[in-house]
Amino acid sequence: MASVTDPVCGMTIEQSAAAGSATHEGVIYYFCSPACQERFEAEPDTCVGGR
Ligand SMILES: [Zn+2]
Repeated sequence: MASVTDPVCGMTIEQSAAAGSATHEGVIYYFCSPACQERFEAEPDTCVGGR
């Protein structure tokens, strides 16, 4: 089983249990919920690059 990190909220989830996924600059990201996926798709750079 593979665990992945939701880049929006930081939650660790099982890849198989992800609510959705999106590809950004060649990297696949997984999300705990559709809401997180929508936020990521709206501003992906903020989610992966913000710190
Ligand atoms: Zn999330």
